[in-house]
Amino acid sequence: MECITKEQIRDFAREIGIDLVGFAKPDCLKEDQERLKEREALGLSCSIEERDVLKRISPEFILPEVKSIITIAVSYNVDYDIRHSNRSYGIISRSSWGIDYHKVLKEKMEKLSEFIKSKCQEVKTVCLVDNNPLLEREIAYHAGIGWFGKNGLIINDEYGSYIFLGEILINKYFEPDAPQKTKCGDCNLCIKACPTNAIAEPYIIDTNKCLSYITVKKGKIEEKIAKKMGRRIYGCDTCQQVCPFNKRAKKVVRPEFVPDKLLPRHDLIEILNMSKKEFAEIFGPTSSSWRGKSIIIRNAIIACVNTKEKSCIEPIKNLLKSQSPLLRGYSAWALSHLCEKEILSEIEDALLKEKDEMAKKMMIEALNKLKGDKIENNKG
Ligand code: SF4
Ligand code: SF4
Repeated sequence: MECITKEQIRDFAREIGIDLVGFAKPDCLKEDQERLKEREALGLSCSIEERDVLKRISPEFILPEVKSIITIAVSYNVDYDIRHSNRSYGIISRSSWGIDYHKVLKEKMEKLSEFIKSKCQEVKTVCLVDNNPLLEREIAYHAGIGWFGKNGLIINDEYGSYIFLGEILINKYFEPDAPQKTKCGDCNLCIKACPTNAIAEPYIIDTNKCLSYITVKKGKIEEKIAKKMGRRIYGCDTCQQVCPFNKRAKKVVRPEFVPDKLLPRHDLIEILNMSKKEFAEIFGPTSSSWRGKSIIIRNAIIACVNTKEKSCIEPIKNLLKSQSPLLRGYSAWALSHLCEKEILSEIEDALLKEKDEMAKKMMIEALNKLKGDKIENNKG
């Protein structure tokens, strides 16, 4: 007699607000090894992805006794009316509305683990959500949570792709669930809608072009990609918004994922002027804060340029004196796009004081653009 059944786990999971549970074999990822090597060789992986292929496919590196992987999915498809404002705004991905999902999912998984441990002796578990190198979507696929869409996301028939995924590695065997075949058919809406052509071919995402990754990338963003960011401050939902399976996906009542201080369309000027304390209050509770304030403000500066927002000029001028060299460089870049020659002297003054090489280069490029001639990198 088993100490616990898959159905008992599913029933308890539903009670604590977990929408889907699936079971996979720990070696389910071994078949992905070759595909990962190919991706790496084609240069489709980005800097935030784990480069060690073995770490990505080996749950036993985390729990040596692992016998099954329990995958959970929690929908964040809350019913929320986005209020449009007349002021200039930046867009926050739906995945970052409300409380940081890492925290929410971790709590639910810990409860589920405790429930299993209360029924079965000598059970060991490790709860994971996004903070590990394992191929999360592939595990969810093998656990039958959903099927792969051409946009590279896991799509569930009932909840669409607006689902957060988490895994519990466990030293107890459960019969694996069956993977599901793709249902995209002839649809190519996500490929057509992607602003950067990051869906290199169906199911293959070039993460170096994908704005979900670009918006959290450190440092300078290639200008032609920055232009495609539009108003995006954190993440990108475009390939999910157009997906027919999301249009008919079930809505959920989940107050933790309803936006609070950080709005889905957040005022750009408020972001540009944010102090450290304000950043902690507005962005801190959400999942968009992990890369820090400078990355969010950099994206807001880019959004101001992309929307030609003149009301952003004053706050951007203040950022020429920011403590962050990235923001000093970006403010010069933005001013060269939003202003005429009247701004020259302010950028020249900033350049005289600048010590950081990247910021200096961006200031010189900004001056060149405004003057229409070349100056040498010999100031300061
Ligand atoms: S998240 Fe945005 S940039 Fe990335 S593939 Fe989807 S539409 Fe393209
Ligand atoms: S938009 Fe169409 S092609 Fe893309 S994932 Fe959805 S169903 Fe598949």
